[in-house]
Amino acid sequence: MINILTIDIEDYWSILQRDWLSIPDAKPSDAVLKNTKWYLRTFSDYNVKATFFILGEVAQSFPQLIKEIADEGHEIAVHGFYHRQIFKLSRDEFKKEISDAKKLLEDLSGQQVIGHRAPAFSINKDTQWALEVLAELGFVYDSSISPMAGKRYGWPGFKKEIHRMSLVDGQSIIEVPMSTISLGIRELGVGGGYMRHLPYFYTKWAIGHIQKNRPAMIYMHPYEIDTDAVPLKLDTLTGQGKVAALKFHKSQTRNRQTVKAKVNKLLSDFKFSTIKEILKSVC
Ligand SMILES: [Zn+2]
Repeated sequence: MINILTIDIEDYWSILQRDWLSIPDAKPSDAVLKNTKWYLRTFSDYNVKATFFILGEVAQSFPQLIKEIADEGHEIAVHGFYHRQIFKLSRDEFKKEISDAKKLLEDLSGQQVIGHRAPAFSINKDTQWALEVLAELGFVYDSSISPMAGKRYGWPGFKKEIHRMSLVDGQSIIEVPMSTISLGIRELGVGGGYMRHLPYFYTKWAIGHIQKNRPAMIYMHPYEIDTDAVPLKLDTLTGQGKVAALKFHKSQTRNRQTVKAKVNKLLSDFKFSTIKEILKSVC
């Protein structure tokens, strides 16, 4: 079985500042550049291609990085423009962000962009109108739905297989859901924080189990390997969200020192490719 490797290209520091510390004009830092380059070198070492879901603002700040990713033969796809979850946007705002990001990424990469992932897997029953917008804009697939019950996101009971969804006006889109695995009463995902927080044997066991029936879809983030992250201190922060920001930061930086080794094991234990490639055999 060939599984799906994806990475969401976003900068941790600017998102932390905007989402948690009310600093609306924070720009992507060059940490995203350094960390993404580690992934590019590592993917090249294992001769594996991945789908890169990229923020428009990262492409704007680091256009050369997008060219490098495309030149290495990876798939370029959209991860929104400013990492605003779908429920924070109106239909028109979403349409503008996504079409701007698509155009910018196509101009820089020379590739036709056919895939989208919403920030924080934020397409669910309430925000499924976003799929109609994506179909209108010519996207072939979306990979934003997490088939589990989450606090704010998640679509419990959503089909776990890659499948075509019928939309209004005869339109349709292929959905590539987050891979999840049922552990009794809890559903867990594979990749991202699940890989960082849990020992590697969980990831290995979960993929081994999922790939008996369907390709497992793994996601990761550049910052998850970044051990240079400065610990935040309460007295240096301002604003109402500072306690929540500290909690978020603590959880996001936990176990980062384990991730490089886990990525290496993952790439030597399993076969991976891009979503675009997998869709040729699935749909
Ligand atoms: Zn993201």
